[in-house]
Amino acid sequence: MDRQGTQTFPYAKLIRTDDDGLMTPYGGDLVQAFVPASERPAVLERLPGLPALQISAAELLDMEMIACGALSPLTGFMTRAVYEGVLTNARLPDGRPWGLPVTLAVTRAAALSIRSGQEVALYHGANPVGVMLVEEMFLWDAETETRSLGAASNDAPTAARRERQAEYLVGGPVALLAARSAGFMQHRHLWPLEMRGQIMQRGWRQVAVPHIKHPWRRTHEYMLKCALESSDALLLHTPANKESAPQAISPETLQMASRMLIENYFPVDRISENPMSAAFFAPHPRAALMHAILGQNYGASQIFLQEDDGAARELFAGAARHGLVIRPVYMPAAFHCEPCGGIATHKSCPHGAELHLEVTDEEITEQLVQGEGLPLFVARPEIARSLARGVAERLDSVAIRNAGHHIYPHAAEVSSELRQSLAGHKACALWMTGLSGSGKSTIAHRLERDLLLAGHRVFVLDGDTLRHGLNHDLGFSEADRRENLRRAAEVVKVMVEAGLIVIASFISPFRAERQMVREILGASFREVYVEASLATCEERDPKGLYKRARAGQIPQFTGISSPYEPPESPDVRLDTTAYSVDECARQMRDYLANGGVLRSARGDHRVAGAVRTPARDGIRIQ
Ligand code: ADP
Repeated sequence: MDRQGTQTFPYAKLIRTDDDGLMTPYGGDLVQAFVPASERPAVLERLPGLPALQISAAELLDMEMIACGALSPLTGFMTRAVYEGVLTNARLPDGRPWGLPVTLAVTRAAALSIRSGQEVALYHGANPVGVMLVEEMFLWDAETETRSLGAASNDAPTAARRERQAEYLVGGPVALLAARSAGFMQHRHLWPLEMRGQIMQRGWRQVAVPHIKHPWRRTHEYMLKCALESSDALLLHTPANKESAPQAISPETLQMASRMLIENYFPVDRISENPMSAAFFAPHPRAALMHAILGQNYGASQIFLQEDDGAARELFAGAARHGLVIRPVYMPAAFHCEPCGGIATHKSCPHGAELHLEVTDEEITEQLVQGEGLPLFVARPEIARSLARGVAERLDSVAIRNAGHHIYPHAAEVSSELRQSLAGHKACALWMTGLSGSGKSTIAHRLERDLLLAGHRVFVLDGDTLRHGLNHDLGFSEADRRENLRRAAEVVKVMVEAGLIVIASFISPFRAERQMVREILGASFREVYVEASLATCEERDPKGLYKRARAGQIPQFTGISSPYEPPESPDVRLDTTAYSVDECARQMRDYLANGGVLRSARGDHRVAGAVRTPARDGIRIQ
């Protein structure tokens, strides 16, 4: 077992979980390797005096998994004996099967700057993430590692390590500083102890782990449904760290497709989603073993695996003799059968193989790249559309996207500048973001009225309006909300191009989504943060939505069951708790006037503009 340094390094705690009646963690106890909150100030004070090591995103995820006990019995990054034992015979020193190395790689210079027995500070970028007691440094032989692991080796992190010229591995116990660090462990992710608590609280007897990386195909859905039918809840894992070099379908697109499936076709209160190292999804029994260990530590009782050539069975049987009590369930490969009219396997379908429809991942990719839709038997229509969109965005060049479609936008003779010049004011997009009830719509409409009466071309685009028309096919899953905003931004872009001041009122709670909007709208984008406390919004509750959300009738409601990420540096901040509607509208007018957007009071309607003159094919400044 790998309990390095527990005597000298005070943070690793082993928790007996006998009394929760759930699966015993691998190795008997659940590891908890956190710096306790009471000691955090003292440790933070000590950090600047300690040698510092940089830790990559993938390594930080590993460290978080160690700290929360997901990788019990590991208490730290592997020392040489542990590492070599895993590489050569897939076992820890005590004989317990273990699939993959969990290591911290550093440069030669970093290795030379530390000594064994020393405490070091671990940083991810500028953020201190934890401390480590260095037990030993040893040369990292990437070739041997790749050779030993075969198909289970993870090329992407290895390449990334090479890129930062890591030559050594550092082993020793670790302790995580933050309770939730670096964004991997988000609010909705559970750690093993929390998951165990939930299993007990809900009275679940069986929790299943499906060993599927991105479940979005109909065959995946079938496996997930089978797993859920025979248990009380599903423990899903998503690959959290970045993977290999760019492929036609990005991991984000696949993740989005999976989320659409889960959110729309599964009872989400019986699904727990947690991040896991992408390495544990490698197509190899070693990776499956890691996933099983993780699942057991989380309290799951069975892991659903694709049937393989027997190597996994052998590995799991060996591990069962050493405390791997999670039960492997082997699912035969699923396919669509025409006469059955649905998904089946050779165990459940009596028809001949010629009636079975199967497609490979390569064929799916090819179809998406060619712009062909996926057949219904492969994926649900909205999921297929989402994938197609993701691939088109990835290809991200109008030329490629339009290849074969013969779309050639006609060159306009009127420039956007000319339109603005004739209108007498500039065009821009005022993107109002804020909690529901913060006052976005109220201020938007007041501002619209004021600007219109002053002779401006202005229009309010409201989230609700679009949902009745253009976006009526979209729901409220994460993917659909994002698509709702993407389409909204594209509409706003056209309106800005037409010379309007567009006031767009969308809660748009996530920074990443607003960043997408910013990228679509370019320089015309102005972020307006309509600010009011949650308590105020809830008290106003103009549409009665908060009441319904509190009653559990609206899932994923911003501010209640889904987070709102305030803008970090908005162009305008309107405090609707402190200022009246009229005052907020006035602040907006001032902002626009100061920025030279509005008609000048002197009646000088011209702004710098241009006309494209076909004869000269050039630009004439007005
Ligand atoms: P949202 O923009 O989230 O859709 P609404 O504009 O529909 O919010 O609702 C905001 C509510 O708050 C309205 O009932 C409005 O009258 C009230 N309110 C009170 N003070 C203000 C303010 N200073 N600015 C905007 N709305 C305010």
